Amino acid sequence: MRIAILSDIHSNLAALEAVIRKMDDLGISTAWCLGDIVGYGPFPNECLEIVRTRCSLVVTGNHDSGVVGVTPVDDFNEFGLRAIYWTRGAITAEHLEYLRGLPLSETYESSTLVHASPFEPSKWHYLHSVRGTAKNFHAFATRLCFIGHTHVPVVNGEDGTVNRFTAKGRYIINVGSVGQPRDGNPAAAFGVYDSDSGHYESVRVPYAIEKTAEAIVRAGLPEHLARRLYQGT
Ligand code: ZN
Repeated sequence: MRIAILSDIHSNLAALEAVIRKMDDLGISTAWCLGDIVGYGPFPNECLEIVRTRCSLVVTGNHDSGVVGVTPVDDFNEFGLRAIYWTRGAITAEHLEYLRGLPLSETYESSTLVHASPFEPSKWHYLHSVRGTAKNFHAFATRLCFIGHTHVPVVNGEDGTVNRFTAKGRYIINVGSVGQPRDGNPAAAFGVYDSDSGHYESVRVPYAIEKTAEAIVRAGLPEHLARRLYQGT
C-alpha cells in the first residue's frame, strides 16, 4: 500500500488542494498527517475539513497545540503568535475540539508518526542536525519514524547516512512541509511510502502561491507570512 504523508499544512488551502490532486493522480488513497494543520495561514477550517476526511492517522503539532492552549504562547515567535490568536478567532468550535483530541504520536506497523521528535515529543525539539537526530533513534521501536516541524525534507539513517533511503535499516524521515516549505523550494512537499516495497520518496508540487499569499494579507495576518511562501523560506 502506498501512503502519502503530509505535515505542516499551516492553513494553506491552495497547497493542500494541489497535494490532494497529486495524490489522486498517483492513485494514492491513504494519507497520514503529522500535525501543524493550522497556524500561519488563512484557511484553518477548510484545511481541517480536508485532513479529517482524507487522513486516517493524524498527530498534533506545536501550532495545533498552541491554538487549543496546551503549548504556552510564549513558545512562539511574533508571527506564529499573531497567527495563533487569529486562528483562535476563526476556527469553529467543532474543529477546535478535534484538535484538542489529537495524540502526540501514533504507531502503525513499521512506522511511528510524530510532529517534531520521537524523544520528548511534547517539547517540540527541532531535529536540524545529523547528530541531534541520531540521539532520537532509541526513542522509537519501529523501523521508520516520520516527522515534520523543521519544514525541510530529509532522510536520516541510523547508520549516519543522509538522503540515502534503502528498504532495510532504520530511518527518521522528515517529509517537509505542505504549506510553508523552508528549504528554498516554494513547491509543496510531502512524502510517499510504499509499505509493500519499503520504498520512500519525497514529492514536490507547485501550487498557486498567490492565492494563499493574497488571502493572508486580506485576513490581516503578517505580510511576512505571505512573502516567505514565494521564497520557500
Ligand atoms: Zn510547522
